[in-house]
Amino acid sequence: MLSRGPQDHVCTARHCEKHALWRLTWTNPAVRTGRKKIWLSCEQHRHELEQYLAYRRFPVEVEEYTEPTHSDEQ
Ligand SMILES: [Zn+2]
Repeated sequence: MLSRGPQDHVCTARHCEKHALWRLTWTNPAVRTGRKKIWLSCEQHRHELEQYLAYRRFPVEVEEYTEPTHSDEQ
């Protein structure tokens, strides 16, 4: 389902190229290592991605996402 990573600053939903506004940090409890995964989402797909995770009972934290900008560098 997912081909892009958070480094692209765009929505994780398939075929969506919108800039991310939300970050969903989730884990799969069935995986013992418990590594956190990060999805990014635009406003439109946030609910869809949350539902996807809720359906699988994966714990998820949703935060506002601000794209890092190079202009912040000194
Ligand atoms: Zn989207």
